[in-house]
Amino acid sequence: MKNAKSLIVGNWKMNGLRQDIDQILAIGASLKENPIDGEVVICPPATLTALAVDAVTNLPVKIGGQDCHAAKAGAYTGDISAEKWKDIGAKYVIVGHSERRESYSEDNISVRSKAKAVLDAGLIPIICIGESLSERDSGETLSVLTKQVRECVPEEAKKGSIAIGYEPVWAIGSGKTPSVDDISEAHSLIRHVLTEEIGDRSKVTPIIYGGSMKPSNASEILAIDGVDGGLVGGASLKAEDFLSIIRAS
Ligand code: PGA
Repeated sequence: MKNAKSLIVGNWKMNGLRQDIDQILAIGASLKENPIDGEVVICPPATLTALAVDAVTNLPVKIGGQDCHAAKAGAYTGDISAEKWKDIGAKYVIVGHSERRESYSEDNISVRSKAKAVLDAGLIPIICIGESLSERDSGETLSVLTKQVRECVPEEAKKGSIAIGYEPVWAIGSGKTPSVDDISEAHSLIRHVLTEEIGDRSKVTPIIYGGSMKPSNASEILAIDGVDGGLVGGASLKAEDFLSIIRAS
């Protein structure tokens, strides 16, 4: 039984130019004509966020940021705070993506403070976790995920809304995905640890899968018990592909 609402998130990463707002308009127009029972979020690069927010004004699509600084404001050249995302009209912020963890040495503690900042701003953090290939090969997947949930989910999540993105690092952009059983086991472990951490709020928290989700595997992955949606990178860039993933949910 699914308690959490379905959530499909497109993470454009550092892709997209002004002309690609048309993709967002096409997704929104299709969803307006044929609504789905769930939430669709697109996280374009920061340069496009304001345009994207304007574009979806009357469309059933929300816009999110891809990262934030934990402080509200200050001398942090190049950074964007959760407060700034809120000011521009974003509703979600991805935190702890493995590309950030790898390129900027972000650890669980900094992910937690970013998630807290997003909640404090009244937005919804999409907290990303996932094991690396070497952790998987050495049988540490479940212990890594347990630690990540314990360390990345802030106290404030007992009251505010969050989402968890389970993204095995080795599956991101690689075309490889875990087996249905592996995804199911990971999601049920995450739900279990989340319930220990935040109690009943866990029930309404979407736990979404990410890593090489595409039109050809979306229905199989999204049908897995415990998977409440998807976090989609490459296949979210074209409206046609992303819509067929959304329609598979
Ligand atoms: P991918 O990326 O769908 O291109 O594998 C997913 C992500 O990094 O969120």
